[in-house]
Amino acid sequence: MHKQIIFHIDVNSAFLSWEAAYRVHHLGRTPDLRTIPSAVGGDISKRRGIILAKSIPAKKYHIQTGEPVVDALRKCPELIIVPPNYELYEKNSKAMMDILYQYTDKVEQYSIDEAFLDMTGTQMLFGSPVIAATAIKDEIRRRLGFTVNVGISDKKLLAKMAGDFQKPDRVHTLFFDEIKEKMWPLPVGDLFFVGSASEKKLHALGIRTIGDLAATDKKTLRAVLKKHGEVIHSFANGHDVSLVEPQAPDLKGYGNSTTIAFDVTDASTAKMVLLSLTETIGKRLRKDQVRIHMVSVSIRYHDFCSASHQCMLQDATNITKEIHVASCKLFDELWNGMPIRHLGVHTGHVSKDMANRQLSLFDHTNYEKLEKLDQAVDRIRERFGSDSVMRASFLDQEHIDHMNGGIPKDRRTVDYRQK
Ligand SMILES: [Mg+2]
Repeated sequence: MHKQIIFHIDVNSAFLSWEAAYRVHHLGRTPDLRTIPSAVGGDISKRRGIILAKSIPAKKYHIQTGEPVVDALRKCPELIIVPPNYELYEKNSKAMMDILYQYTDKVEQYSIDEAFLDMTGTQMLFGSPVIAATAIKDEIRRRLGFTVNVGISDKKLLAKMAGDFQKPDRVHTLFFDEIKEKMWPLPVGDLFFVGSASEKKLHALGIRTIGDLAATDKKTLRAVLKKHGEVIHSFANGHDVSLVEPQAPDLKGYGNSTTIAFDVTDASTAKMVLLSLTETIGKRLRKDQVRIHMVSVSIRYHDFCSASHQCMLQDATNITKEIHVASCKLFDELWNGMPIRHLGVHTGHVSKDMANRQLSLFDHTNYEKLEKLDQAVDRIRERFGSDSVMRASFLDQEHIDHMNGGIPKDRRTVDYRQK
């Protein structure tokens, strides 16, 4: 008997599958995008458009997520590229989570298309882990029209590794006592959290498989890869003590978080994401005519660890810029330099007092002017749509939505008549 039973649910080629399922089931379009070389990508006319997701037939042309659309078209001129539709993704994600919650309330949504479930002790209800996982997978396919992989293990890391075995529409187990047979023969680059830079260093040490890594002396790894060497060594040996962390109840206050399509590895991109989150929060605060006193930033790393940090502001505010500056400061104090998966900004200590601020001798910021600027932007967006005004810094950042989190009704509607 295994102490814990953890499932990792992962949608196969999520953005692409969701788009394909929508076209087939709601628009009656053929062929199914999943059966031809196709991809979800940014606007080609802007040239900076990048591939966000690809079909399995597109993989045969070595098309990579994150590469420029122009490069992908060079590899495969007949590649069908469809625009992203975030509203559709959010709907599909929510519909899938609703199904998962019917099996357990211990659900940790890990990204827009991934979740961990703690299924410990559910055997009497749903049968053996493989039977339960198959039921979940089939129910999602039957009711929502897309496929998932389910990885089963007694540890989160191993469940996630198992979910990456053969795709699509599969259930795989990778219990601790199976790692020798199922995980150790795999190339070391397949290990979660081994990036291409680490992979090169490991190759230089003669480490080719996950098994080689598991058998390597920890000191050797530490000398070459520092702390990260120890982390991947313990992963290779199947050690991971993290638990499924069900969603915390909504904090009192105004918050917003997002899972980023790519791992963020630099502070300036992270701060752009924080700005996009803050834009939406600021707008809600001003709409409700409140100010907040507390700002908190949370980071979830690629290795499941998460951290958060908060501070009290000198004065209550609803100014986007001020909240953003505070969140950047918190971010700088908090970030350990590891790749980031998920970022959140929360605000609290809500105050309805909208009286003017006390002026300070040492602070010459014109808060009144900043407030008026925010209000003007809110009014324009109200009348002409959320995209009518955008901070200039977002113009180069096609894959970061300038107002992240909530989806205003007027946006993100793909015009299917054109496609
Ligand atoms: Mg996926």
